[in-house]
Amino acid sequence: WSQSSLSVVVVGASGDLAKKKIFPALFALFYEGLLPPDFQLFGYARSKMTDEEFRDLIGNTLTCRIDARSRCEDSQAAFLSRCFYCPGQYDAPEGYANLDKKCKEQEALTGKMVANRMFFLSIPPNVFVQAAGGAADNCSSPTGWTRVIVEKPFGRDSASSAELGRGLARHLTEDQIYRIDHYLGKELIENLTVLRFSNLVFEPLWSRQYIRNVQVIFSEDFGTEGRGGYFDRYGIIRDVMQNHLLQIVALFAMEPPVSLDGEAIRNEKVKVLQSMSQVALEDVTLGQYRGRSGAGRSGGADLPGYLDDATVPKGSLCPTFAAIALHINNARWDGVPFLLKAGKALHTRGAEIRVQFRHVPGNIFKHKVGPNIDMTTNELVIRIQPRESIYLKINNKVPGLGMRLDTTKLDLVYNDAYSKELPDAYERLLLDVVNGDKRLFIRDDELEQAWNIFTPVLHEIERRKVAPELYPYGSRGPVGAHYLAAKYNVRWGDLTEDEI
Ligand code: NAP
Repeated sequence: WSQSSLSVVVVGASGDLAKKKIFPALFALFYEGLLPPDFQLFGYARSKMTDEEFRDLIGNTLTCRIDARSRCEDSQAAFLSRCFYCPGQYDAPEGYANLDKKCKEQEALTGKMVANRMFFLSIPPNVFVQAAGGAADNCSSPTGWTRVIVEKPFGRDSASSAELGRGLARHLTEDQIYRIDHYLGKELIENLTVLRFSNLVFEPLWSRQYIRNVQVIFSEDFGTEGRGGYFDRYGIIRDVMQNHLLQIVALFAMEPPVSLDGEAIRNEKVKVLQSMSQVALEDVTLGQYRGRSGAGRSGGADLPGYLDDATVPKGSLCPTFAAIALHINNARWDGVPFLLKAGKALHTRGAEIRVQFRHVPGNIFKHKVGPNIDMTTNELVIRIQPRESIYLKINNKVPGLGMRLDTTKLDLVYNDAYSKELPDAYERLLLDVVNGDKRLFIRDDELEQAWNIFTPVLHEIERRKVAPELYPYGSRGPVGAHYLAAKYNVRWGDLTEDEI
């Protein structure tokens, strides 16, 4: 670091993601002293703005964590003085040449011989390749490394993803490309490998011998709310399952990597993805939320259905909910269903992993169970968000005379255990790019496997025009999800049933 400067270029700097996530994350890294001292930020987009206007735009996005308020507030002016803006078209080489000139001017002022550059492509997918090409061909660092971060969607299926990959490969090496999946930057997901591989009480149980099923559940309590136009092209399987939830399954189920090195971990993830069967239509339940009158949170307003969103095409069959069963055909997981569920406009918001263990063989306590209490199996719950926590449901003797059992929890609630606000996923991921750590980014062969698992069923759903089951806004989703789970002898866990 002492020998090099760092220029971060946000392409699409006028957009929603840049304002919501990228600028605040860069600022947090800056005031925590985690960026090189000679750091500067460049915004690039078609909108016309001066440096001053750009600084105002960024200034409005910056917030301070409670535990870092004083150093954060003191750093805002210094951070903004390092921000510059360059307007330009995404497909115009001259725009990137201007940007290059502006970068070089600022980099020269640092006096450093090496100027590293990091691009974040925060733009719609239709301009990805042109922007990557324009930036790489006209604005790569002449003295240091150039790294490019790309956001999902990485295509709509195997063919379009491969085409996008070939487009990027014309301008960048695989080593330069960082495919971000912000779920991998979440604290509890990073902790998954620690939990499993550094605790003797977990790793030996991590197989078909002791685990009955694994559930990965993602739930949003709001609908598309005017952004349905984008969503309708993708649907919930592409938007959440093929990337975020599948990545969680791969990390959860992979074999122990030889080290914590990025390639070692990604090698194991690819292998476990290769062991997964392609999803079959009979293992899929689809849903779409419908409106509900007088059920709104504030004052009983009407809640609009997906098809009421003006940006959604009339009669769309796009699923806003899906439940699927995945199967991993290897020695560790043979016969263990991995059930994934994701939906919009449901009764609650959250994401978690649930691991349901098998019955204790020959359980001598089975007659001591109270009515309506299922205490015969242990369950490990990893709550990713909100109120990050890990808890293990165990059977326990109710204190007092006699022998009565109930189910209770050994719990770790992050808020209580660590008096620290957790960094946003983008902070961790951006820092990893600065450090060249690819552990939490998706490699090209991993992406290819992920699409192999989902592409046939996505095409079949579209070809057969499978109609989603309607569910009311704010409900627990379509009943078909319960039939799917029942087929595998599973009962879905509920994000709200275990409030701790
Ligand atoms: P956005 O606000 O719709 O677009 C970013 C910028 O791109 C806009 O400010 C606009 O800037 C330019 N742009 C918009 N539409 C365009 C078009 N049709 N052709 C060319 N340029 C256009 O997008 P975003 O929400 O920031 O997301 C950026 C990327 O991250 C997208 O690929 C998105 O799918 C992905 N993503 C977003 C989120 C999120 O929370 N927002 C989450 C995950 C992934 P100018 O007009 O100034 O050029």
